[in-house]
Amino acid sequence: MDATDNYGEIREAVARLCARFSGEYWRNLDREMAYPEEFVSELTKAGWLAALIPEEFGGAGLPLSAGAAILEEIHKSGGNAGACHAQMYTMGTLLRHGSQAQKESYLPAIANGSLRLQAFGVTEPGSGTDTGSLRTTARLDGDHYVVNGQKIWTSRAEHSDLMILLARTTPLEEGMKKTHGLSVLLVDMREARDKGLSIRPIRTMMNHATTEVFFDNLKVPAENLVGEEGKGFRYILSGMNAERILIAAECIGDAKWLIGKAVEYAGERRVFGRAIGENQGIQFPIAKAYANMRAAELMVREALRRYEAGENPGAEANMAKMLAADASNEAANVCIQTHGGFGFAEEYDVERKFRETRLYQVAPISTNLILSYLSEHVLGLPKSY
Ligand SMILES: Cc1cc2nc3c(=O)[nH]c(=O)nc-3n(C[C@H](O)[C@H](O)[C@H](O)COP(=O)(O)OP(=O)(O)OC[C@H]3O[C@@H](n4cnc5c(N)ncnc54)[C@H](O)[C@@H]3O)c2cc1C
Repeated sequence: MDATDNYGEIREAVARLCARFSGEYWRNLDREMAYPEEFVSELTKAGWLAALIPEEFGGAGLPLSAGAAILEEIHKSGGNAGACHAQMYTMGTLLRHGSQAQKESYLPAIANGSLRLQAFGVTEPGSGTDTGSLRTTARLDGDHYVVNGQKIWTSRAEHSDLMILLARTTPLEEGMKKTHGLSVLLVDMREARDKGLSIRPIRTMMNHATTEVFFDNLKVPAENLVGEEGKGFRYILSGMNAERILIAAECIGDAKWLIGKAVEYAGERRVFGRAIGENQGIQFPIAKAYANMRAAELMVREALRRYEAGENPGAEANMAKMLAADASNEAANVCIQTHGGFGFAEEYDVERKFRETRLYQVAPISTNLILSYLSEHVLGLPKSY
């Protein structure tokens, strides 16, 4: 199977599972800002979150396009994979750069669901998008690292056993490239809670289980270093194409759900004695959103095709993420407009999806930074920052 396969059977099975989790299920969680424990547990039990883990470590060994199909289907059903999607791409850091011993000790447990790798600690309040200027430090002291600092927007930290952490292991000196001297550590948060690691939830406009994480002389065994010391930035970068593509697939799923809802409502709602969908003023914005979604979907497929051919599809992965996030944002806007006042009522789930899909203009990478990447690396324009 590869990017040209549309995974009909997988999509049907995921859709069947998602059908058990209604709009009401997601709405209630949203209201309480609660984690979708039951949904994530069912998805894990069915093996979908382990789709990309190689068979030798207990996963299904499927290519990235299968992961994209699974996540798209969750979003197309009106659900939200934000509670668990990170496992698909953070696992890749361990798989590509971890030692054989690390892979053997963690991946089978992640695949069978007994261990959760859902947290990814890169962003800091002081550094933002400028990852190289992060300030969290990990100092080697005998057989362990001592970690101090703070991360922000570390999503799912309260619902994960492990965290992939990027920290500075070599102090930044004059003339040194700031992306050097950073290292990836695998932090076992089960042991670390209240022994130097504390987590504080951040309430956000959508239900995303995101947090701030504080490190105060946290000891992490030296054997939890992933790959070589000082090369962490490169390891994190190497996972970004997969992350961008998977998030783009979620946006395509959101756009399909939103367009479907808009079409349905436009056909049902009668005003001035006829269905509002008979008016071209209602039809055209929906048709435009559909065309833009389909165009973005083609870019997602192209990024997947290149990724699976072993290329480095930095440009396509970034464009796919940007175009898909734009398409889902447009579809959300059109869906609200089509619903008129009812678009704002919780029971239609439209306003929830509107809030949820808005995130992807900013995270995991903001649109400006994608445009800046394309300007510099594809178009050859001068570096702007
Ligand atoms: C709900 C949520 C979940 C998240 N989950 C995680 C997670 O699990 N792990 C993690 O590590 N991070 C996570 N993030 C962080 C996310 O990746 C960042 O918010 C995002 O990369 C933007 O960084 P920032 O918020 O620091 O914005 P800033 O870097 O402060 O930028 C602010 C604005 O300025 C723009 N900007 C900055 N520099 C330039 C420039 N040179 N040119 C033009 N425009 C510029 C940006 O595009 C942005 O719009 C999450 C964020 C959110 C909101």
